[in-house]
Amino acid sequence: MKGLETSIQYLKTIRPKNSKVFEKNGIVTIRDLLFYFPFQYLDRTSILTSEKIAYYVANGFDSEVTIIGKVQNTEIVNSFKKKILKVIFSDNEGLFEVVFFNGINYFSSIFKQNTFFAISSKPKITRYGHLQFIHPDFDKLTTNESNEFKNTGKIIPYYRIPKDLREKKIGDINFRNLVKETVLEFSSKLEEYLPQSILSENNLLPLVEMINKIHIPTSKADLEQAWYRVKFEELLIFELRVAKRKKLMGKLKPESKITFKTSDINNFLKNLPFQLTKDQLEVLHEIRLDLESQIPMNRLLQGDVGSGKTIVAFLSALMTISSGKQAVLMVPTEILANQHFVNSISLFKENDVKIALLLGSQTKSERKIIQSEIASGEIDLIIGTHAVFQEKIIFKNLGLVIIDEQHRFGVEQRLKLIEKGISPNILIMSATPIPRTLSLTIYGDLDVSTIRNLPPGRKEITTVLRNESKLDSIYDFVKQKINDENMQVFIVYPLVDESEKIELKAATEQFEILKTKYFSEYSVGLIHGKMNWVEKEQVMNDFANGKFQILVSTTVIEVGMDIPNANIILINEANRFGISQLHQLRGRVGRGKSQAFCILITKENYILPNSNNFDLEFLSKSELEKHKTAIRLDAIVNNSDGFLLAEIDLKLRGQGDIFGLRQSGEPIFKYVDLIRDFQILEQARKSAFSIIENDSTLSKEENRILAQLIQQNDEPIIG
Ligand code: ADP
Ligand code: MG
Repeated sequence: MKGLETSIQYLKTIRPKNSKVFEKNGIVTIRDLLFYFPFQYLDRTSILTSEKIAYYVANGFDSEVTIIGKVQNTEIVNSFKKKILKVIFSDNEGLFEVVFFNGINYFSSIFKQNTFFAISSKPKITRYGHLQFIHPDFDKLTTNESNEFKNTGKIIPYYRIPKDLREKKIGDINFRNLVKETVLEFSSKLEEYLPQSILSENNLLPLVEMINKIHIPTSKADLEQAWYRVKFEELLIFELRVAKRKKLMGKLKPESKITFKTSDINNFLKNLPFQLTKDQLEVLHEIRLDLESQIPMNRLLQGDVGSGKTIVAFLSALMTISSGKQAVLMVPTEILANQHFVNSISLFKENDVKIALLLGSQTKSERKIIQSEIASGEIDLIIGTHAVFQEKIIFKNLGLVIIDEQHRFGVEQRLKLIEKGISPNILIMSATPIPRTLSLTIYGDLDVSTIRNLPPGRKEITTVLRNESKLDSIYDFVKQKINDENMQVFIVYPLVDESEKIELKAATEQFEILKTKYFSEYSVGLIHGKMNWVEKEQVMNDFANGKFQILVSTTVIEVGMDIPNANIILINEANRFGISQLHQLRGRVGRGKSQAFCILITKENYILPNSNNFDLEFLSKSELEKHKTAIRLDAIVNNSDGFLLAEIDLKLRGQGDIFGLRQSGEPIFKYVDLIRDFQILEQARKSAFSIIENDSTLSKEENRILAQLIQQNDEPIIG
């Protein structure tokens, strides 16, 4: 008999020969198929007919629409010496055409005569007066569906069908029907995994009902209820982990406690060329209390770019080392590791501290030596990239782990440590500010310290937005600043494409042009992500030592580099960057005494509509969408406070990687949007904490499946 864990190859429509493609996409069992949720729904109200659309377009309408039609015929025509595919459709009111420029063979095989499709895209009217859709999203409907749909106004689920599933011409399997049949036949076998009390307290649909309504909804209310439970569940599991960790932390052995010698700290401070700011002192005090307490520290230190977190990190390390333990400083790039290393050697010169640099790019034998010195306890402070958390590294007495620029990391490193049986103090440093409400709920068990004010004497960076057509005069300005004030300049080009090759090409090409044309009388360097760390290191050092006046770069300079003489940064195609990235990049300059400049350059003009009294709060969603780029650029030009910028960013994007919560580009939540679903989050958090309060190990029968669910841990552990 078939059950939920039965392989999908036993489903009639799939069969073994097709199952591989499903499996590759994570659909292995019947259960997996039940949990393969639609990414959107189409309901009758959002469908338009050809005549209406044509009328709207003629009146200036330009948003996406959905239309259902039947394929009349397809033709391949020549247009400007290129072949294009035209599919002619009809609906009750008339004809429309769908056009493809690429993949002609593939698409001609899909759009067979007399089949029905739902077509979604921006419509246009050709110069011959035809209603046209170019490379639209489309979805094949059965004759049945298209009738049902038209006549009863049913809601149709849309599934993201993985590319290889589509291309392998499992096309004759109608994915939607497959899921529907599977739901009807198997969903009743699903076992509820939320405790009854949680269901009733929170008004949640039972699991079986949820699955049915997700895949076969009959009303919007169905959808709302079903998705509420999906999100609640996702958040509940997340918050259960938070609650459990918090409980666990409270119970950890006091091995993390330190007692340091004040003389060590004084020696260090004597050697420091400046006074610590009030914020730095306060933060250090908070850290000190944590370090001296029985319970391991678990703290997030936030502070804008250039706010002076590094010194705080080193002093925290020193307190730890002074009490006979080791400290690790982990940073996201090798360049940065090296800068910190060089820095630390001069800062610690009055202290008896042995420091080692540990990098992935070092040779095995190099690393072996360092490893053995770490194991013997000879080394006190280890600075490195994630190489510091390799399996092979054994610490003699690890007391503190500092993670710099945490948003660049996979955050599971901490889990790895705990797995090694170590529960050191942890300090996470981040330059991406997290609004407080969110940090509390997301990090949950993390304490937060904030450096709000920059060290004194910093001039605000002058930021301007310029069109590319002004490049000549911008370059003149740059030359003048180099000539008169000996300034150094960053010229940044965006990651044009995912592919590093193209990135490389853009930056190298520009480099050649700049070097031979505009700046032939100046020394120009180049740095990009394809160089190995030794090369990057060389260039960065050369730049820091003044060998180049101009450094052309991709975004590799983004993180943490500190070059006081670099006072101008040109950011090309600034519209391609996010707010926090722009802010980070800008933070590369303005660390010295002179007035610094950040010049944002764009190809198009991005101008805010009546920018004098422009208020984000009052913008409609579509307006927001439309002016997003202009708003972003305007925000950067007019604000220097990272916390404020983070809030603007938050408003603009809803949820996003500004929190640094994304793991290799993946959002931590599959279904939840932290901003939109904040209410659900609070609800779920309450439930989670009360469950853990009553059953901290989740060993009661009613929590059995919950316990399994939170075990299945592919989620990042944050903080
Ligand atoms: P971030 O918080 O971005 O990591 P850094 O720690 O790199 O910032 O500090 C930026 C610069 O400010 C460094 O050159 C550092 O030496 C300097 N700095 C840090 N603290 C102070 C201070 N209290 N007074 C003056 N300069 C400081
Ligand atoms: Mg830093």
